[in-house]
Amino acid sequence: MTADPPGRPIAVLAGGVGAARFLSGLVRVTPPERVVAIVNTGDDRLFYGVHVSPDVDIVTYTLAGRVDTGKGYGLAGDSFAVIEALAALGHQTWFRLGDRDLATGLHRILRRAEGVGLAAVTDEIRRAFHVRVRILPMSEDACPTYVELRGERRVHFEEYLVRDGAPDEVEGVDLGAAGAARPAPGVLEALRSARCILVAPSNPVVSIGPILAVPGIRAAIAASGAPVVAISPIVGGVPVKGPADKLLRGTGHEVSARGVARLYRSFAHGFLLDTRDAGQARDVEALGLRARAVDTIMRDADAAAQLARTALALAQELAGARADASPA
Ligand code: GDP
Repeated sequence: MTADPPGRPIAVLAGGVGAARFLSGLVRVTPPERVVAIVNTGDDRLFYGVHVSPDVDIVTYTLAGRVDTGKGYGLAGDSFAVIEALAALGHQTWFRLGDRDLATGLHRILRRAEGVGLAAVTDEIRRAFHVRVRILPMSEDACPTYVELRGERRVHFEEYLVRDGAPDEVEGVDLGAAGAARPAPGVLEALRSARCILVAPSNPVVSIGPILAVPGIRAAIAASGAPVVAISPIVGGVPVKGPADKLLRGTGHEVSARGVARLYRSFAHGFLLDTRDAGQARDVEALGLRARAVDTIMRDADAAAQLARTALALAQELAGARADASPA
C-alpha cells in the first residue's frame, strides 16, 4: 500500500441519521478536515417559507454535537414557539421545526435570495456550528424526491415520511428532478480526487439513490479510481430505522443486505454487512464485491468509530489490490 498523498479527501455519500452517526465515528479515526460529506438534498422542501434541508441539517447538527439525540434530528433543547404560534393561526404544522432549526432554514433562504449558492450557504452554516468536516449538498438545483403510492398518488418524500407516516403502499420513487440537476460546486472535484469513497449506512433508495441520479456523479466516482466501500443499512432483513424496507420492496428490490449490495454493485468494490447477515457474504462476493461481516450497529460513538475504522481498512485493502493489479 502506497502512502496517501496529503490532502486527498475521504468522500462519503450521505443521507440523514445513519450517515450522521457514521460520520461522527469517522471523525474519531481520521482528521475531520480530510472528510467531505456529499449529502442528499432530495428531501429538501420549503416549510413555513424557509428552505429546510433535512439530511444536511441532521449531518451538521450531529457533527456539531448539537443534535437532539432522542429524535436523531433537530437541535437539542430547541423551543417550538413559532410552530405553536403558526398552529394557533390555523397552519398545518405536521413538520415540527424548532425555533433555532427554523433559523437555519431562514438563513438558507435569505442568503440564497442574496444570490449566494446553496453550497456556499451550507458551508457558512457548518462553519457557524464549528463543524470541521466539509459538507456539500449534492446539487444546488431543486431535486425533490417523490414517492408514488397505490391509487396513482404521488407525494413529496417528507409528506410520505412525516405527514403520512411512511405507508406500505409504495409503487415507485421519482428521482427525475435529481436526474436533471447539476452537481453542486465541489462535488465532482471531491469525488475525482478522493482517496476512498464510502457509502454511509443510509436509505439506498431515497438518500443514496438521488445522489447517484445526479448526472456526472457516477462518472466521477468511476474516474476517481478510488476504492468504494458501502455499509449495509439493512440488518437481519430489516432497516435499523426508517422505511427503507417499504421503499426497497416498492421499487422491486430485495429487503436484505444482499439486495442493497445488488443496487450498489455497479460502482462499489467493498461491502460491509452485519454479522447477523454473514450467510449472505458469499452472495455479495458473487456480485463482485469484497464482503466483510462485522457488527454494523452504531449503538454508541465507539461502535460508530469501529465501523468507520473497518470501512477504511477494507478501502485500504482494496486500494492495495487495485494497485497490484495495475500495470507497472
Ligand atoms: P434518514 O434520511 O434520516 O432516514 O437517514 P438515512 O438516509 O441515513 O437512512 C437511514 C438508514 O440508516 C436506515 O435504512 C437505517 O436502517 C440505517 N441505519 C441507521 N442506523 C444504523 C446503524 O447503526 N447501523 C446500520 N447498519 N444502519 C443504520
